[in-house]
Amino acid sequence: MMVTDLVYHETFVKHVMSPGHPESPERLKSAMNSINGSGFLDDKLVNILTPKRAPLEELYLVHDKAYIEGIRIKSERGGGIYTGDTSVNAFTYEAALLAAGGGIEAVDRIMLEESENAFVLCRPPGHHAEYERAYGFCFINNVAVAAKHLLEKCDVERVMIVDYDAHHGNGTQRTFYSSKDVLYVGLHQDGRTLFPGSGFPNETGAGEGEGYTVNLAMYPGAGDSSYDQAFSRVIEPITRTFCPDFILVSVGYDGHFKDPLTQLGLTTSGFAKMNSRLKKMAAVYAEGRLVCFLEGGYDLDIVGMCSLNLVQELAGVDVTLFNDRYEESEIASEYTARLIEKIISDSPLL
Ligand SMILES: [Zn+2]
Repeated sequence: MMVTDLVYHETFVKHVMSPGHPESPERLKSAMNSINGSGFLDDKLVNILTPKRAPLEELYLVHDKAYIEGIRIKSERGGGIYTGDTSVNAFTYEAALLAAGGGIEAVDRIMLEESENAFVLCRPPGHHAEYERAYGFCFINNVAVAAKHLLEKCDVERVMIVDYDAHHGNGTQRTFYSSKDVLYVGLHQDGRTLFPGSGFPNETGAGEGEGYTVNLAMYPGAGDSSYDQAFSRVIEPITRTFCPDFILVSVGYDGHFKDPLTQLGLTTSGFAKMNSRLKKMAAVYAEGRLVCFLEGGYDLDIVGMCSLNLVQELAGVDVTLFNDRYEESEIASEYTARLIEKIISDSPLL
């Protein structure tokens, strides 16, 4: 029987930026407690995969060598700062290499049919990290490293990355902006109202990558119904056109209405529905090949509930329902309807 890999390493919780920082080790502890507490791990449907470090040559496909060296040097010295909210301690370099390595191992095992799909439950996250810049709590772009690995080391031609973290995945978008081999689809809060201030609908790719970047920049307060529309009218149709060999997902639970850092309106069932649709898309177009990477999400209870639901979905068992509710505003719904029309009319793939 096929298993779901849950990629986890104890070093992921040793990376700490500053006391009280929202991107804290408690996030992973909450996720692991919730998953372990559910009891379904005993069913042997989930394999806990302890990753190895990513090979440096693979990181250099996405990042500048001197920049990666700089993270190592800062960690060896015991710590250092990149920006006010993004800093290194003695474990950061190791944790970042293990997180990226976990993504590589997860996709390799799926390609070898040793596992069916995976959730990389890692810290530090990666989607804001750029070629030579640590940014937004991120150092190495884990999802971009996995996508490059698939294209360069595996027999894969087209990779789709769906990023539903509340913040725009600027680093991932930039890595593949001129490529037609990677379709990047971001669903996030509009950059006029949230870090990192990018990911607008008119950012659609460049050169032969024109049309292969899609940004669904949501109005504050957009929730389950807006995301539902985005999947039905944009994401599922564009997946049919692109026909990916592999789907990677940047998972962020900071789109939940309780999240302290953002203003979106998703519920736990909204997240569960997105995961279910992504798994179906992978089954239809990509032989089920699906790896999810943890990015953000800062309400600890929500991180726990949504991580449990994601692993249940991947493993094909009943998803535990939580009864949180949020009604998105009419302004948000109307804004989403117009946004979707604009994206459909501008996209060469729709
Ligand atoms: Zn985020």
